[in-house]
Amino acid sequence: MEKQQEAARPASKGPKRQRRPRRKHNKSSANATGASTPTAEETPNGELWSIKDFKVAEVEGKVRFHDMNLPDRVMKAIQTMGFEYCSEIQAATLPATLQGYDLIGQAQTGTGKTAAFLIAMISDFLDYPVEGERANNFPRGLIIAPTRELALQIADEAEKLTKYTNLNVVSLVGGMNYDKQRQQLETEFVDLIVATPGRLLDFARSKKVMLNKVECVVLDEADRMLSMGFIPDVKSIIRMTPHKERRQTMLFSATFPKDIQALARQWTFHPKEVSVVPKETTNKNIDQVIYTVSNNQKWPILKKLIEENGSQRTIIFANRRDETRDLHEKLKKANINCAMLSGEVSQDKRVKTLAKFKDGSIQVLVATDVAGRGIHVDNIELVVNYALPDDPEDYVHRIGRTGRGGEQGKSVSFATEDDSFMIPEIEATIGTSIRCEYVRDQD
Ligand code: AMP
Repeated sequence: MEKQQEAARPASKGPKRQRRPRRKHNKSSANATGASTPTAEETPNGELWSIKDFKVAEVEGKVRFHDMNLPDRVMKAIQTMGFEYCSEIQAATLPATLQGYDLIGQAQTGTGKTAAFLIAMISDFLDYPVEGERANNFPRGLIIAPTRELALQIADEAEKLTKYTNLNVVSLVGGMNYDKQRQQLETEFVDLIVATPGRLLDFARSKKVMLNKVECVVLDEADRMLSMGFIPDVKSIIRMTPHKERRQTMLFSATFPKDIQALARQWTFHPKEVSVVPKETTNKNIDQVIYTVSNNQKWPILKKLIEENGSQRTIIFANRRDETRDLHEKLKKANINCAMLSGEVSQDKRVKTLAKFKDGSIQVLVATDVAGRGIHVDNIELVVNYALPDDPEDYVHRIGRTGRGGEQGKSVSFATEDDSFMIPEIEATIGTSIRCEYVRDQD
């Protein structure tokens, strides 16, 4: 199967990469509420749609997707997903990334960063379809994420945003069926790859996927890639892609320790830097409390909390797999509708568990930090830290599962004499103090 060949990118002449000019889309896009008559565009599944079908009022202080000159096929997907206005990270990055600029973005999950990079990438691919022949295993876009869950969530959002296009999304993630992924690479045209580093490297080294024509690379949660030891793999992958002057690179990270700053500099070319740190808004929306307890008080308090929490969605974080397993057993014995998400649960099971948690058929999840990173579920009312995490950044990530999208959230953390020394560090990281309640031993 041969598809059109990618148009050669112009070689860089000077310090600034020569960028592809943005194509003008349906002029009325910029004026969807206005009177001009847009032309209807046919999507691959034959439906007629025009930007006139997607009306969003202009509101001061808000940026509409209509103002970004996006292809109608992307606008239609945005409408289907129920988005109206750009989130802060989208408004701050799209004007630059749509022009092909590289990006170093400081943003956590919950900010809309996934759609921010996907919209830029997909719009560019639609504006500049490949010309000539192209073999099917040469992706145009590459998104690398540290965990399988995160990669699958990104792939899910990519599927939605490419719904009305011919662009094909393939995920190459560890722990899931290798042969199926290999078959996809052999039989389908691959435009966007969403991958975890190890599995991608396997495929790239055996030349089942070729990265030398990649036009855009996204590195998501770079700090987590570092802490999980993936940087050597990521370096090998990056070396297989075109030189940074001939690709677009977007790097996102919640934090920027020195190593990540150095890698971000090394991998990007005259990047724009954008920081959206939702700490304050996150904290404002989340009622945080720390109960200082003894070890034997934890379980009865937790049980009571969940019972009081009714059927609301709850995530409990533990630091170790064995703690996760023990808690899960106790919860089951207490007839609480729960499931476990940790590295020892098979990937297929984790995906199924998350889907059940999303649709409400599971109420309580017990998770480790790594497994919990990929949980992008809205309306989680309560996050419990059964023990304080060893890394204060993990605290930020954990409680960030609740209070998303402006909803009210609650986090309860247990601190014993073993881990309460972490409190000042956590408070310094989130930039605010947390209410502490001392729980007396019952006689
Ligand atoms: P992320 O930070 O990428 O994990 O996104 C968090 C959630 O926000 C996801 O459920 C997205 O689908 C949603 N989202 C992203 N952009 C927007 C937007 N502009 N309006 C409403 N929801 C959005």
